[in-house]
Amino acid sequence: MNSNTDQKNKLSTTTILENKEIAPGVFVLKYKKIKNFKPGQYIGLTTDLSVTPRLYTIASGVNSNEIQILYNIKDDGWLTPRLSEIKPGSDLYITDPEGSFIDNETPAWWIASGTGIAPFSAMFRSGLVKNKTLIHGGRYTHSFYFENEFIPILGKNYIRCCSQENAEGLFSGRLTRYLQDIKEIPGNCRFFLCGSPEMVVEVRDLLIKRGVEYDKIIAEIYF
Ligand SMILES: Cc1cc2nc3c(=O)[nH]c(=O)nc-3n(C[C@H](O)[C@H](O)[C@H](O)COP(=O)(O)OP(=O)(O)OC[C@H]3O[C@@H](n4cnc5c(N)ncnc54)[C@H](O)[C@@H]3O)c2cc1C
Repeated sequence: MNSNTDQKNKLSTTTILENKEIAPGVFVLKYKKIKNFKPGQYIGLTTDLSVTPRLYTIASGVNSNEIQILYNIKDDGWLTPRLSEIKPGSDLYITDPEGSFIDNETPAWWIASGTGIAPFSAMFRSGLVKNKTLIHGGRYTHSFYFENEFIPILGKNYIRCCSQENAEGLFSGRLTRYLQDIKEIPGNCRFFLCGSPEMVVEVRDLLIKRGVEYDKIIAEIYF
């Protein structure tokens, strides 16, 4: 059996329900759930059986019958420009959920850049709220995906750091500056980091410099 056949055997077919642009170049894709998952896990996804699936974290809660994927278009990428054009009713090929970026009820800070908010959205929508602080970094005022769900429930434990624009309620600057500026970093909690390699590396270094133990930092890097 060649690797193409191996790959096809691992993929399940589902149907796209919706594919909506929620901010410039950023989409929420919805498809019918066919496998259970744990909040924080990702799936492989492709629109063409001959093309290697790309990885995406599930953004929806465990009790929903629809799976949501939050993605942004990579102009020079293969899948995302095509995915952005795909219509409801089309087939989508997906792998089983995988991954160990999984939180529990103990205190944690969730730190995300861009579409790295997806696993925290899944955790939040699955009921993890108590003892959680969510810090999201984005460039523009429209970069804070799902903010309407987070604001009323997380309140002051939801911090939006906006690097290119100013607006009421947003911290002006990158999330690394926010983390540098705050007086105290708690010692008794875990830190979950998700997003670009640059953000994850920078935040990990910063937290360690500020006294956080290495094994309290859990990271998921989007490459
Ligand atoms: C665990 C995990 C979870 C993720 N979850 C999400 C998510 O929820 N949402 C999200 O938006 N993204 C997520 N990502 C990132 C996502 O998988 C891809 O980076 C992105 O969607 C790329 O898709 P694409 O086919 O458009 O681009 P690709 O064709 O894969 O290209 C991606 C980038 O790599 C470059 N590239 C491609 N091939 C080569 C090569 N041979 N040599 C050098 N450079 C190359 C391209 O120019 C482009 O900039 C996740 C990644 C991981 C690892």
